[in-house]
Amino acid sequence: MKCTRLVLIGPPGSGKGTQATRICARYDIPWISTGDILRAAVKAHTPLGIQVQMLLSAGELVGDDLMIDLVRERLAHEDTARGFVLDGFPRTLVQAEALDQMVGGKPLLALVLEVPEAELERRLTSRRICTRCKTLTTSNSLYGSEEELCSKCGAVLITRDDDNIVTIRARLENYRRLTAPLIDYYQQRNWVARIDGTRPPDEVTRNIARVIDERMDLRDC
Ligand SMILES: [Zn+2]
Repeated sequence: MKCTRLVLIGPPGSGKGTQATRICARYDIPWISTGDILRAAVKAHTPLGIQVQMLLSAGELVGDDLMIDLVRERLAHEDTARGFVLDGFPRTLVQAEALDQMVGGKPLLALVLEVPEAELERRLTSRRICTRCKTLTTSNSLYGSEEELCSKCGAVLITRDDDNIVTIRARLENYRRLTAPLIDYYQQRNWVARIDGTRPPDEVTRNIARVIDERMDLRDC
């Protein structure tokens, strides 16, 4: 049995979701996203979930301690025996240290999907959503001036509020600020693999799989 413990790090627009789905299927491991954990905890009305609900409805952030408890609980499930893809955790050094403890100090692999900011801005500003069927699509318009229609239902496509350039730059800046110390932390342990996220999705998947097969060791289970 081989264990594949992955921390997936990538900015918005890097194709992280697509790659997470494929890697999980390939290695038969669960995709553990903190957004999903929070939603599931709230829905299940566990004691932790009730705490989360109170924080979120007060408009507050979920702190390190609570987030760590939620992830610890999730990693205790049987389906993580062969590994996992963590997405959105750790976000802080305190969380990274807690994760090391949860896995008994065994090696992780931090996959960092790298895409230059100009390319991310281009990708994110070209996203459109259908006003009727809500399908997400990529604009082919060079100048963003002409009206574009949904290929599924024919309704008008618009840019989401989240995808304007000011919001996008703030999100990318936030990503840099949060992840830089984490990448340093994993770099010191030599657990970082940088993946070129500008390549076509299939090639990115192959490159990630190659790195996993080279770097994750059977003895580390
Ligand atoms: Zn539509």
